[in-house]
Amino acid sequence: MNFTQFNLDSRLMQGIKKAGYETATPIQEAAIPAALRGRDLIGTAQTGTGKTAAFVLPILNKLLNGQRGVPRALIVTPTRELAEQINDVIRVLSGGTRLRSVTIYGGVGAGPQIQALRNGAEILVACPGRLLDLINQRQARMEKIEILVLDEADRMFDMGFLPDVRRIVKAVPVHRQTMLFSATFPADVELLASQTLKQPQRIAMGISRPAYTVTHALYPVPPHLKSSLLIELLKRTKTESVLVFTRTKYRAQKVAHQIQRAGFKVTSLHGDRTQGQRQAALKGFKSGYHDIMVATDIAARGLDVESISHVINYDMPDTADAYIHRIGRTGRAERTGDAFTLVTPEDNDMIRTLERIMGGPIKREMLEGFNYTVPAPPRSAPVSRGGHRPPRPAPTPSHYGRNRLAPRRRK
Ligand code: AMP
Repeated sequence: MNFTQFNLDSRLMQGIKKAGYETATPIQEAAIPAALRGRDLIGTAQTGTGKTAAFVLPILNKLLNGQRGVPRALIVTPTRELAEQINDVIRVLSGGTRLRSVTIYGGVGAGPQIQALRNGAEILVACPGRLLDLINQRQARMEKIEILVLDEADRMFDMGFLPDVRRIVKAVPVHRQTMLFSATFPADVELLASQTLKQPQRIAMGISRPAYTVTHALYPVPPHLKSSLLIELLKRTKTESVLVFTRTKYRAQKVAHQIQRAGFKVTSLHGDRTQGQRQAALKGFKSGYHDIMVATDIAARGLDVESISHVINYDMPDTADAYIHRIGRTGRAERTGDAFTLVTPEDNDMIRTLERIMGGPIKREMLEGFNYTVPAPPRSAPVSRGGHRPPRPAPTPSHYGRNRLAPRRRK
């Protein structure tokens, strides 16, 4: 569908052109007309589907008419990185409108945010904690909010923000339009939705399957050879930007060092880094200065870097949902991407779950010439903080469920 069919203001059509969007994505096709009519919406959409523009365009269209200089739209989102990303989308799409947006989040001084609010802005993109502080200090005024967006509601729940979100909802006028987006709907999010939205229209966008533009491969490997295999994979694969996921902050740091020692330009994004370091990491990765970024799930939530060609799971995520979120970083909006996952025998249950969701087997790959039989370090060697189990003997590839060398027999 072409954007002209939405009857958006011509100033927004300029922004759409500037953003380089040609046709609307499915969620935009479904959400924009409903939101323009003023309906409350529940969107089941993962990042990578174009959901940000799906709520930003109707907001901008509405704000073009009416009062300027006071906050009229509030977008609440779980992480600073997401807030900045949403703000970037607003900035591009609102180019010709003179509407102003401000980001509000903790970890940085409140002064510039307060000043930006005093200068006057119509749109606030905020993380819950700092926003509540500023509401309580009467720096952020909620009286004129007409549109409320709760983005990544399930993540806000995971991160313990729901009580703050409820306080924020109480602070905005009852008469408003509300849009809630979430990739999954645990009971608490459903409850929040039922308390916050009025006769919402539900828009579901293939939540349970990763973007179809991504190809998936599993690389069975003994746990102690993960880093060697990862580096060999990086050397042999033609990539643009690569995002590597680890289970813990400690492992992210360790793996980043190992990759750096192998001669790659790498950075890392995890909770032990300061806000300044995180911003520098993101900037370096987005600009292409760093080819590789090693991250934990929380740090990379919603990360939107267009050129990510490969997501590599150094560690299998704990849930299928986390897998889908990680993989959502590549293959974004019509681009193709590859998702590699290093798997050890203990990941077999999760592999079966993922294969059920994807409706078929995920291919197993072996790296030609890679020595899979290097023995594990002796038991007396110190165990790294990341791995809680004692080292095991190097398994042969047939340990790993179905694979090329050892096809699994059907039960
Ligand atoms: P989101 O799901 O909002 O994080 O968007 C994912 C990516 O898709 C972003 O890089 C957007 O710039 C891009 N995008 C959003 N809408 C469109 C569109 N209609 N056509 C092409 N790219 C889009």
